[in-house]
Amino acid sequence: MSTKDFVEKDYYKVLGVPKDATDAEVKKAYRKLAREYHPDANKGDAKAEERFKEISEANDVLGDPKKRKEYDEARALFGNGGFRAGPGGAGGNFNFDLGDLFGGAPGGGQTAGAGGFGGGGGGGLGDVFGGLFNRGGAGTRVQPRRGQDIESEVTLSFTEAVDGATVPLRMSSQAPCKACSGTGDKNGTPRVCPTCVGTGQVSRGTGGGFSLTDPCVDCKGRGLIAQDPCDVCKGSGRAKSARTMQVRIPAGVLDGQRIRLRGKGSPGERGGPAGDLYVVVHVDAHPVFGRKGDNLTVTVPVTFPEAALGGEVKVPTLGGPPVTLKLPAGTPNGRTMRARGKGAVRKDGTRGDLLVTVEVSVPTDLGADAQDALEAYRKATAGEDPRAELFQAAKGA
Ligand SMILES: [Zn+2]
Ligand SMILES: [Zn+2]
Repeated sequence: MSTKDFVEKDYYKVLGVPKDATDAEVKKAYRKLAREYHPDANKGDAKAEERFKEISEANDVLGDPKKRKEYDEARALFGNGGFRAGPGGAGGNFNFDLGDLFGGAPGGGQTAGAGGFGGGGGGGLGDVFGGLFNRGGAGTRVQPRRGQDIESEVTLSFTEAVDGATVPLRMSSQAPCKACSGTGDKNGTPRVCPTCVGTGQVSRGTGGGFSLTDPCVDCKGRGLIAQDPCDVCKGSGRAKSARTMQVRIPAGVLDGQRIRLRGKGSPGERGGPAGDLYVVVHVDAHPVFGRKGDNLTVTVPVTFPEAALGGEVKVPTLGGPPVTLKLPAGTPNGRTMRARGKGAVRKDGTRGDLLVTVEVSVPTDLGADAQDALEAYRKATAGEDPRAELFQAAKGA
């Protein structure tokens, strides 16, 4: 039987018993009707066969105390017969078993229930029934709810960002209110929200056979409404809780990057999974090194003779011993060279490179010997004009 049947079919009427019939009365009525309409006694009578099926189905539900309870509750919620969606559609005062609601683990397997129903443009009906019935019997009736995602920020030093770091992160998040055990109700007995019948969501048709789902405004998406709101949380059932967590930031993170830490957000409700934590990372600048993706950058001053004649130049690395770079003779100012594997750690554990930019430094305080040597150099290169090409090019266009 489907949950649709639960709402549309009046099994009491089928068996001809009152709603408050005892189990024995139900059994007796079934036996009598089953004998009367049994296919063996009505060979070839299609109507009798149909009736027999109905009787059996009614007995399947009313003859099983657990199923009968579900059936009664479903009909109390949705009215006898027609299902009315939207405000006013539900039966109102429907107290939940709090042990089931907030006890955590949802019990049991799924009943046949909502499958196949509400799929064709019914929009949300499947959810409603799924939420109410798919937990197998008298268990949870309100769907578990995933905890909220939390957004947080962290500032790392340049080196921490390159190497990865575990940092303490203080966060305030939503947790169940301690005063009312998350029910939102002073006495711990909230009722199901009549607007969304406990799903926390309402569907709104768009006209084209589609429907959109919004969080229910009346219960703020909780599916429950406090009868006597808790003083501490004002009926929301949620409280702010501050906690400090150690968060692992992976190596190679960039300034402004947003990292997702699955399941580190707010705890879920009613056994639902926790939300995710998103951390926006800020990275402090380093006085010497810069970042270009996986590569680190550094600018290294060299003397004019080192650039002109070539030589070996020591270059600092981040967190490691210096490397020696061979400058070829005639290295121009601003040339960038590459020290392989001295960059930032990549996801696969390998490292990027260190990009070394050469900057020819001009001495401001020359000793007498150096001055003489430079004067001699000036004389030796008097015939050269470094700006000849510049002026030529300036004329051209
Ligand atoms: Zn609601
Ligand atoms: Zn509370």
